Order: sequence, then C-alpha cells, then structure tokens
Amino acid sequence: MDYIVLDLEWNQAVDGKEGENEKIPFEIIEIGAIKLNSDFEEVSRFSQVIKPEVYPKMHHVMKQLVHIDKDELMQGKPFRDVAASFIEWCGNDYIFCTWGQLDLMEFQRNMEYYEMPPLCAGPLRFYDVQKLFSLAYDDGKSRFALETAVDHLKVEKDADFHRAFSDAYYTAQIFSLLRKPEIMERVSFDLYHLPKSRKDEVYIVFSDYAKFISREFADKAEAMEDKQVSSMKCYLCNKNIRRKIKWFTPNGKHYYGVAACDVHGLIKYKIRMKKSREEKVYVIKTSKQTDEDGLLRVKEKKEKARILRQQKRHMKADKSKQI
Ligand SMILES: [Zn+2]
Repeated sequence: MDYIVLDLEWNQAVDGKEGENEKIPFEIIEIGAIKLNSDFEEVSRFSQVIKPEVYPKMHHVMKQLVHIDKDELMQGKPFRDVAASFIEWCGNDYIFCTWGQLDLMEFQRNMEYYEMPPLCAGPLRFYDVQKLFSLAYDDGKSRFALETAVDHLKVEKDADFHRAFSDAYYTAQIFSLLRKPEIMERVSFDLYHLPKSRKDEVYIVFSDYAKFISREFADKAEAMEDKQVSSMKCYLCNKNIRRKIKWFTPNGKHYYGVAACDVHGLIKYKIRMKKSREEKVYVIKTSKQTDEDGLLRVKEKKEKARILRQQKRHMKADKSKQI
C-alpha cells in the first residue's frame, strides 16, 4: 500500500459571509502531494495550481499566507481536471496522509460542488500526521503548526512553507519519522460521508481503546435505542458485560457509562452525539479500560448531573408557582 501525503491550499470569499457560496466556503487553488511506497520511499510527486472559479480574488489573509501570485493562479487548470488527474495519479492501493483533518474534508466538498463521484462511499481512512506527531511527542490532544514539528524534528528547511507541494513534502518527512507500530495503528476517519447503513459503520480496536462510528439517526433518542450504540461490550473479549453505571448525560451531548468484564476489569464508555450535514445525528462511542478511581470519577459526574437536574426542576416549579 502507498501513502499519499497530501496538502491543499484554498481561498475564500473576500467579503466574508456575504459573498460566500455555502456549498463551497473554501475553494481549492492548489494540490500538492508525495507518494511514498510501503517502505516510506518517495516514488512520485504531484503539484498543480487550480484556476479559481468561485472566488477569483484572493482573500487578504490567504494572500499573506499562500505565496501564489495572480499570474500563476490564472494559469492554473480547472479543479475538475486537476482533481481527476490527481485521483488517477494516486493509484489503486493507498491511504491518504494529511497535516490535520481539514484537507480531505475540503477536497471532498470541492469534488461534490463540481459534481464529481465521491472518493469513498462512507468514512475515509487516513493518517492525520498532526495527530500522530502529538501522540509521539506530546499528549495526543495538542496540535502544533507544521513548521513547529519540522523544527522539533530538525527536518532540513529547504523549501518555503504554505505552498501545497512543500507542505506535503514536510508532512511526508515528519510522517516517515513517526513510523512506529504504536503510532501507525492510530488511523483516523474522515466523516464527510458518514456510514450509510449498519454494515458501513466503523468499529476499530486500538491497543488502548476502541472506537465506534455509527450511521445517522433521526434524533438522539433514536440513536440511544440502537443496540450497537447503547451496548456495553468489552472491546477486548467482545462479550456483553455487567453494567455498573448505566448511560447518563450531563449535557445532552455526551453520554457516559461503566461496565465490568470478569476478565478485563472495568471499562468506561463515552458517547458523543454529533450533528450530521443533513441535520441528523450520529454517534462516536469510545470504550477504554479504567480502574476504581475511574469508576469513582464517572459516579461523581453522574451525581453532579443529578443535582443539576434537580435544581433546574425546582427552578421551573418556582416559576410556575409565581405565575
Ligand atoms: Zn473482556
């Protein structure tokens, strides 16, 4: 399998929301990529400027950030042609690698705007190299600028930043320095296209947690009624296990629960309710081993939520009394 390390530059409306086309808030003006083989050796390069059609004027921030002059831009090719030749260049067996999560989303949104067939019918597996860098050198949650990572790893700075190809080049350099099994297992999923049916749903077990990405539901209640969403299975032995704390939510957005496996001990669960583009909801559920302290923390959270609910109820009751 090849690694396609991709970077895009884009432009936006000069007059903010007013002049924005909602279907394409960011218009891609350059695609740069490096193809690495499975041994992380560079085998091919791709670099193309795209002539903008939606926002022909460069936004002032983009002008400062992206070093493409107007002449170069006007000599670019149409998005459809560049995207098609890029996809062909990618080949048949590859995984995308990008710095952060935005590039693949914007790429797919631009493709949809130009009515091109989708890259992938459902979630798209990729490596978020920015996340991998954080996992390797920080807490996994922080995010750093590409140049910060380049400096940290002492990668030679022989090209300008903020051009698609050079940023892809630096991302590839960093990516190849991160190739340890515990880092490489942490694949990400772009969710521009959500799972359409149960069989497209994503379930992935990493060494220290498991992740489930559901299809769409009409609302939160329907999601919580789904067996796959509400189940508390041990992700290590796949058995349905004894519930210690049933699902509860302190805010209507996040749900928590804890269960106990006879073999693998306590497992804590978190559901995040997400809004889809179609204004429906989908669920990201994670499960992770925990201990008695972890159980206690979830118990405290539940108790806090209960007290808050009670206070709200009393406030409502007081109000209706006044009326
Ligand atoms: Zn188990």
